[in-house]
Amino acid sequence: MKLRDLGEFPFLRRLQQRVLRDARVQVGIGDDCAALFLSGTTLLTTDTLVENVHFRREWTTFPLLGEKAFAVNASDIAAMGGEPTFALLSLSVPQDTEVEDLDAFFDGFLRGAGTCNTALIGGNMSAAPCWMIAVTLLGHALHGIITRSGAQLGDDVYVTGTLGDAALGLRVLQEGQSGAHAEEAKARFLCPTSRIEISRSLATQHLATAMIDVSDGLLQDLGHICEASKVGAEIEGERLPLSPSYCALRGEREWDLALTGGEDYELLFTAPMTQRATIAEIAHATHSTITRIGRVTTHSQGIRVHAADGSVYITPQAGYDHFRAE
Ligand SMILES: [Mg+2]
Repeated sequence: MKLRDLGEFPFLRRLQQRVLRDARVQVGIGDDCAALFLSGTTLLTTDTLVENVHFRREWTTFPLLGEKAFAVNASDIAAMGGEPTFALLSLSVPQDTEVEDLDAFFDGFLRGAGTCNTALIGGNMSAAPCWMIAVTLLGHALHGIITRSGAQLGDDVYVTGTLGDAALGLRVLQEGQSGAHAEEAKARFLCPTSRIEISRSLATQHLATAMIDVSDGLLQDLGHICEASKVGAEIEGERLPLSPSYCALRGEREWDLALTGGEDYELLFTAPMTQRATIAEIAHATHSTITRIGRVTTHSQGIRVHAADGSVYITPQAGYDHFRAE
């Protein structure tokens, strides 16, 4: 059945039955506004995925698209040391969209939200020539927020997971490569891994001095920390965490995509040297990789990437800028 045959309101009534209940929601889906009764620090973030700009329908599946729409916003909440709580979703789709496809999209979105105990409390639907998915996510920061501005001279620089896989996955899709490594890279592009658990551990133990999620490339996002904290950074290229797929498809000495590729949604943070053992314990406890990749230097030194022989590694470009012409 097409959405235009079912209609927006019957669709929303069906959706209402599927969302998580939460005592803090005074009014949820179905009125002019949602109403919440909250205490403590509330984090708010919003992010939009546009068809043929951020995704292509032939490259992904509707559940994966829904999951990613939630995950990219959850990543921003995690980057502040918080946990997602409530979501608003503004969805624009063509009138001839199959209800089945919308249901599949919500399967993924609500699955992602459910794993973080996040309730969908409202939003909007409208007709448009292509898919546009705008998510607003609220979160709470029970243990205080972690901003970009707290990095201190001499701190270590860490990143979770591996770098460059999403950018590599995008290339794989563009070039139509196949094979096990190509599939793995593709999966990383189509839906990022949640780092909420690591963020929670860092926040509860007050370990990170500054944090950001890697959405536009490591150098770009490290640049944001350095600007906000008025520091510089030295990265050891040999320490960059690269996946087996990256090494196989790109090469372990090719750091360009790991340094500048976007959409990895890993956490990049700084922490005092005295916390190395505790951070290693968090990696172990969360079954994840957290790699120390460098250290914080003075602002005037800027950001440098060193090769093993001490030489400065020159990168072809700084990272992704949404508005700059390539
Ligand atoms: Mg971010």
